[in-house]
Amino acid sequence: MFADLHIHTNFSDGIYSPKEIINQAIISGLKKISITDHDIFLGNIEAQKITTKNKLDIEIISGVEFSCFNKSTEFHIIGLFIDFNDSIINSIIEDMQNKRIESIKTIIEHLRKQNIHLKYNDILLHAKGSIGRPHIGKELVNKGYVKNINEAFNKYLSNNLLEGIREPRLHLEKAINVINNVGGISILAHPDLSNKKLFDHIKEMKQMGLQGIEISSPRYGLFRQKEIIELSKTFKLIQSGGSDFHGFHKGIDISKTNGLTKEEYYRILSHKKIND
Ligand SMILES: [Zn+2]
Repeated sequence: MFADLHIHTNFSDGIYSPKEIINQAIISGLKKISITDHDIFLGNIEAQKITTKNKLDIEIISGVEFSCFNKSTEFHIIGLFIDFNDSIINSIIEDMQNKRIESIKTIIEHLRKQNIHLKYNDILLHAKGSIGRPHIGKELVNKGYVKNINEAFNKYLSNNLLEGIREPRLHLEKAINVINNVGGISILAHPDLSNKKLFDHIKEMKQMGLQGIEISSPRYGLFRQKEIIELSKTFKLIQSGGSDFHGFHKGIDISKTNGLTKEEYYRILSHKKIND
């Protein structure tokens, strides 16, 4: 494969640093990758500095991922080729970061009622950028409440157990608009094929301005889903894709087999040029 346009680092909820991600991508023969951390640009910016400084034969595409809601359904939207200097998208990032901090403090309070005592500053030490539940998980391990992060989620941090307290979500239309307005390409990440209303949802998103959809993701197994390719054609959506690598999901890796071919990548780029 040529490009992997959906990767997380330890600046959000991934476990590897930008440098480690770049090394893995180079070993896998990739030429273009996008670090698409949740609500933050810092991991991507660091990766860009590393490749420029060391004149590496790999390009980092600017990117971000927003968790979004629309009438109580959750969707994840990737923005590629974003202008990191734009003030409007930066104010959204700042707002999301503040809301993340609030959500962590609310979860600490929720856990305190179960006689689990964690300090915000201790949790903060685990977070390099976007703070989230995995960092609470690390602190639960650190304090000996659980053996590992999986157990932390199973016992304390799953959506059900937290009764709706979670990291902030951005309104879907707002996310699509801000990405489009800063010259980016808005992409629906790993569409949920089990959602019976997916067709209608995508129709609505297309009306909101959605430009692309991930046709390639190891979440579907290594095989691309015919259904998604069909949807992309029906709604004239750009075909994107990537591993959604975090570092701790079995079978999801940065590898030769995940992502996009050279031809597919340059098709995306040609749309970017039309936007410009
Ligand atoms: Zn992701």
